[in-house]
Amino acid sequence: MQQITALKELLQEPKEILITTHHKPDADALGSSLGLAGYLKKKGHVVTVVTPSDYPDFLNWMNGNNEVITYDPNVNDELVRKLINQANVIFCLDFSSLSRINELGPYVQEAPGVKVLVDHHLEPENFAEISFSNTKAAATAELVFELIRDLGDQSLIDVHIGECLYAGIMTDTGSFRHPSTSRNVHLIIAELLHVGVNTSNIHRLIYDSHTETRLRFLGYVLKDKLTVLREFRTAYIAITADELKHYDSKTGDTEGLVNFALSIEGVVFAALIIDRSNAVKMSFRSVGDFSVNDFARKHFQGGGHRNAAGGISYDSLTDTVAKFLQTLPEYKDQLTKDN
Ligand code: 5GP
Ligand code: MN
Repeated sequence: MQQITALKELLQEPKEILITTHHKPDADALGSSLGLAGYLKKKGHVVTVVTPSDYPDFLNWMNGNNEVITYDPNVNDELVRKLINQANVIFCLDFSSLSRINELGPYVQEAPGVKVLVDHHLEPENFAEISFSNTKAAATAELVFELIRDLGDQSLIDVHIGECLYAGIMTDTGSFRHPSTSRNVHLIIAELLHVGVNTSNIHRLIYDSHTETRLRFLGYVLKDKLTVLREFRTAYIAITADELKHYDSKTGDTEGLVNFALSIEGVVFAALIIDRSNAVKMSFRSVGDFSVNDFARKHFQGGGHRNAAGGISYDSLTDTVAKFLQTLPEYKDQLTKDN
């Protein structure tokens, strides 16, 4: 409540506002950012959305996408630095640690603007003056909806803003199947339907927009790259930089792969380990009590949610996989207990 009052006060007069979100934005990161941007513009603010990296093409349909500034250290470092420094308010959406915005982290940290965090990740760092952190929320887009509603402006949520928020909630709930899919989520979705959001169209834009090579890549990965470790109720996929190149893999093409590993009957822990050349990036998923947030934090400098988290490794792909496998015996009891 106090936070809402503080935010209301802050946004009383038109401001220069910068919105940023995590590296390699997913639909919740971008959808919550563009949804919030759409609302703030309606309120008369000057709003810029800056992403720390590029993002998948299947998000390009979102309203406001054309005005997003994608940070590239070799192209627009000076411009982005200037924008961050001149902003009166900096919204930090869908991340809980400044390390998640890569090079932008120090810029945001040192910027004079008021920082506002809106996020649902576990164990948030304390870098924002105003914070809406709710680790029980299914998506940051859910929190943005509530924020706008609590500011007394639900009537400003139109179909364009609604589509962005819907995309974030739909993807972060795994199309409304994860345990985070609360009554509140469905009530919000009902409101989004009410303003005219075409939900099946958004589902299609995001999930049924594979290129042929992406689908063939998926076939190859499932046939040749999936390892199932019954003993640990674990499955993992490791992908080399050469394989990515061979299949002309684009940002977003590996999204969802980890869920196939988790979908195997009896498997409770899945990992996707990808050599991104500059580092090895890891995605973890679990069902039940096993906390991939704890796992990622402890072993791979990462974090996230209990059942969905990510991490990073600067060892080679082979060494990273070896390290991953070495950690498993430590968790054997947790992974094999009935849940
Ligand atoms: P994904 O596997 O889809 O990239 O990420 C799963 C969840 O973990 C997301 O909520 C994402 O924001 C978070 N996440 C992914 N990578 C990292 C990381 O390196 N560090 C932290 N703290 N969170 C991550
Ligand atoms: Mn999210």
